[in-house]
Amino acid sequence: MTDITPNWLIKIAGAKTAAHLFYDLKIDTQEALATSNPDDLFNKSRESLKNKSSYINYLIGYKTFQALIEKAKDIDCLPRKRIKSIFDAKKKKFGPTHFLFKDENEFYEWYKLKPQICYYCKTEQYKITELVLAGIFPSKKFKKRGRNLEIERKCSQPEEKNVYSSENCELACTFCQNDKSDVINAELYIKYFSEPRKRFIDDLYEAHINSKL
Ligand SMILES: [Zn+2]
Repeated sequence: MTDITPNWLIKIAGAKTAAHLFYDLKIDTQEALATSNPDDLFNKSRESLKNKSSYINYLIGYKTFQALIEKAKDIDCLPRKRIKSIFDAKKKKFGPTHFLFKDENEFYEWYKLKPQICYYCKTEQYKITELVLAGIFPSKKFKKRGRNLEIERKCSQPEEKNVYSSENCELACTFCQNDKSDVINAELYIKYFSEPRKRFIDDLYEAHINSKL
């Protein structure tokens, strides 16, 4: 994290609000803002401003947070760099027979319309991100994974259908991606595992948030 309020944030929020988001709420990437929960930002904002004399001048309403999050999603530059690196890596690894997005733009346009919830368990990604960053899961896997949804191929059998394409891909959480793998088909996975998975994360998240209050 640099110590200068980033330009993209000033563009979205104006200088004063941008500084508050950046320094007090630690929003340091556009993706972080786009995937934030307005309730969380609103509560954190109230908390951090409580002791400031200019409290009332800075107080940002819930609806404003919602609007800022929407703006951040409307992406000129959202996670473009990260999406490009995913595109490059998958294209290289899976080649023209299994990676069917025709170019980076098509991939990006597909990606940016996807909601930030897991296709299988419907868990909101911000909850998992928060738990991962708080170190709730001790596995080494979470050093690299868990902070973002992953690209999941719904149909993985037979091998010739196990392709990356806008029809066959969805965004899934690390847990579902890991559990489902190519072992269980999408329909059965949703039927048997999605509801308890969401309940598990929801309960952990709630306990985590309550422990911070
Ligand atoms: Zn999931």
